[in-house]
Amino acid sequence: MRFSPCYAILFALDANSGVNNLELMDKLRILTGAAKYDVACTSSGVDRKGIPGALGNSVAAGICHSFAADGRCISLLKILMSNACIHDCKYCACRSSSNTERATLTPEELADLTISFYRRNYIEGLFLSSGVVGSADITTELMIRAIARLREVHGFRGYIHAKGIPGAAPALVERLGRLVDRISINIELPSESSLSALAPGKNKAGILAPMGQIAGMLEQRRQELAVYRHVRPFAPGGQATQMIVGASPETDLHILRLSQGLYKRYRLRRVFYSAYVPVGDSRFLPEVAAPLLREHRLYQADFLLRQYGFDATELLDPDAPWLDARLDPKCLWALRNPQIFPMEVQRADYLQLLRVPGVGPISAQRIVEARRTTPLCFDALKKLGVVLKRAQYFLTCQGKAMPGLRLSQENVYRCLAKDCRVAPSVFGNRMMQQVSMSDLVQDFRLDAALPPLSLLATQPIPSEPAGEFARGGA
Ligand code: SF4
Repeated sequence: MRFSPCYAILFALDANSGVNNLELMDKLRILTGAAKYDVACTSSGVDRKGIPGALGNSVAAGICHSFAADGRCISLLKILMSNACIHDCKYCACRSSSNTERATLTPEELADLTISFYRRNYIEGLFLSSGVVGSADITTELMIRAIARLREVHGFRGYIHAKGIPGAAPALVERLGRLVDRISINIELPSESSLSALAPGKNKAGILAPMGQIAGMLEQRRQELAVYRHVRPFAPGGQATQMIVGASPETDLHILRLSQGLYKRYRLRRVFYSAYVPVGDSRFLPEVAAPLLREHRLYQADFLLRQYGFDATELLDPDAPWLDARLDPKCLWALRNPQIFPMEVQRADYLQLLRVPGVGPISAQRIVEARRTTPLCFDALKKLGVVLKRAQYFLTCQGKAMPGLRLSQENVYRCLAKDCRVAPSVFGNRMMQQVSMSDLVQDFRLDAALPPLSLLATQPIPSEPAGEFARGGA
């Protein structure tokens, strides 16, 4: 493959922006700081000073964590190749109109930095993204050179996740995919109209084209693996994408339907949701950050789509298109479908059990196996991993409800709204009284008049560690 003379362009850019004079540590500070808005990793780093008599220190900037296919948590250096960009996406700190400090790493600097961190045991891999330096092709070439140096010169076999640049030549996308473990193309915003309003240099077709190419190559590799023992690697960790929520007016239903379509059509491993953070003045953007709780609820709903067989239109509908601040999406669905409950644990099949709040794929499988040999009681369900705090309202064991279960409003809110992180005032001051399941459902529908998550940005929502939010789960 022939590369364009990207070094000349890189150094010309550096000369123009004055970043040649920057020390490597300055570049590291700028480029890891700029990378924090990418959320294809799942928790933040640790800032810890060294102390006399102890060994080592830790710098939060740039070190994040991701989870390998076997569930192992791995530390990644999260960094941009460059925070210079020719585009002017309104929601981005690296946009061309921003007067932020700019820096660009050479491929050698990036590779050597990564290896030196790896040798010091700071990191186990690399998460690499970039602003668009010059053009999509030039940027992709710079990233390829850095990663190729890591793989081929340093013999680095650790995890690498790279962001593809929409508009890059297909041959470059393929070369990048063959070098990395996971590749992702950011969908950025949930609709074409939002893209054209907020990211004028991008369009839906330009983003979906490389996604389609990657999906095709992943499928080709899957077919080759079925026939041949050894095939050329191509992003064995699959592809992912990232979507900013709260910068544009799309509903949660719209976002979940889009995610579902992306999972089906492009075989994505993950859609990462990033709650909008204001990074500049724009009359097109909200003045306040999107609630992290909305991001959290979307991750939970996304998990239901991927792991529990739910359809986006089951979770939400055009008349109620927002996820609820107080209840996780599975409880919300269960309360909207009272005709299905209570479910008898001895008779419900695996897929029915999966729909019960507090029952996951592992506990549902355990129930199906355990009940073959013995009738199950609630104590046994707890030992099988069922979260009874939620499941107790929706299950019977041998025809009986949970002993001592009091379906008071107070109990139900404490258990089902366990994940609620909004201020108590959002719940309203309501009289506590004994209620039945049907009362609860009616009551819940009355509560649907409470503001949806999209409008809760001004509510004092306590912040949570990103890692907890991003893991999702029902
Ligand atoms: S192309 Fe990427 S880096 Fe450049 S302004 Fe848009 S979002 Fe930011």
